[in-house]
Amino acid sequence: MILRPVFFLVILMLIYSMIRFPVSRVLTVLFGVFILTQIFQLLWMTHLEKRIFKPISRLQEGVIEIARGNYQVKIEHNVCNEIGFLMDSFNHMAAKLRENEIREQEYEENRKALIANISHDLKTPITAIQGYMEAIEDGVAMSPEKTAQYLQVIRKNTEYLNRLIDDLFLFAKLDMQQVEFRMETLPVGAYMADLMAEFSFEFQEKGFGFHYTNQMTEDDYLDFDRKRVYQAIRNIIGNAIKYGPQAGLKLDTRLYKQNGYVCLEITDNVPGIPADQLPRIFERFYRIDAERTKDLMSTGLGLSIAKELIEAHGGRITATSAIGEGSCFTLMLPLSDKKEPEDEAYSNY
Ligand code: ADP
Repeated sequence: MILRPVFFLVILMLIYSMIRFPVSRVLTVLFGVFILTQIFQLLWMTHLEKRIFKPISRLQEGVIEIARGNYQVKIEHNVCNEIGFLMDSFNHMAAKLRENEIREQEYEENRKALIANISHDLKTPITAIQGYMEAIEDGVAMSPEKTAQYLQVIRKNTEYLNRLIDDLFLFAKLDMQQVEFRMETLPVGAYMADLMAEFSFEFQEKGFGFHYTNQMTEDDYLDFDRKRVYQAIRNIIGNAIKYGPQAGLKLDTRLYKQNGYVCLEITDNVPGIPADQLPRIFERFYRIDAERTKDLMSTGLGLSIAKELIEAHGGRITATSAIGEGSCFTLMLPLSDKKEPEDEAYSNY
């Protein structure tokens, strides 16, 4: 590169001497050809330097940055050759590495939060059980009624612990993708009709309102694990019972088809969820009113489990809510390409 000005000077001197001291024609032509080849070589080298050597050295600098663990590196360029494509691929790779790094950081933070939540949620009922047991042992509960009352609190807390451990166990298995899904191809209308009849019966027994409409014109098929889908629906309907009014609870369910999905809409009249909290209800351990919901066997895992179960089927769950009116949960499951049931029995969910 340093030689280039010298080289340029020599060419100028040659041109000058050709004009100043003209010799034979042949020699002039030869000189001319020589000078032209030199000029061409000079231009070619400049082109190579701009289009190849410089981009490669920038690429090399980028690779060094990646090796140092700096994934924020991005090579700006306007080269439109193979090296340019290589730089684009490099930028793409660096962006992916950065994404992975962010995901890993989030995962690590989630893991820490999860351990803190589990420890807290296990500790609370255990402390309560311990406290009430000590009270009974120390004779604080003087009357048999008081003792029975304390024992009931102990029983409630053990039930809660049991539920929490079950949910945690299922969640851990879902996380490690160790939940076995027994997929079957079944007519969704017939499956839902049976399921909703069960819920309708349960609601009637409790004195609540329940209404189900099937708006599907034909009975399409779904590939799904009926027990797992039942569990997801049960978690959502169970929430309406848990968080709804003691009297006057009403549930409207509707089955319909939309863009290749079968949708089950569950609308309740439970006092709604505040708009700022709505996006968080599917997060693990998220409870709107942690203190109040403890009495209701709330682990904060029900909706996140439902979401994981439905997503494992290639579907999704959405929720809308209006304070004072109620909430609407929609489960969407992709329709099957198959038109034949694999199993005749579909009533046993
Ligand atoms: P849990 O298993 O403890 O019920 P979820 O994950 O199912 O936890 O629900 C998370 C939170 O969302 C609950 O704390 C509850 O406050 C709120 N929630 C869930 N469903 C409803 C509903 N239908 N109406 C109002 N709030 C609800």
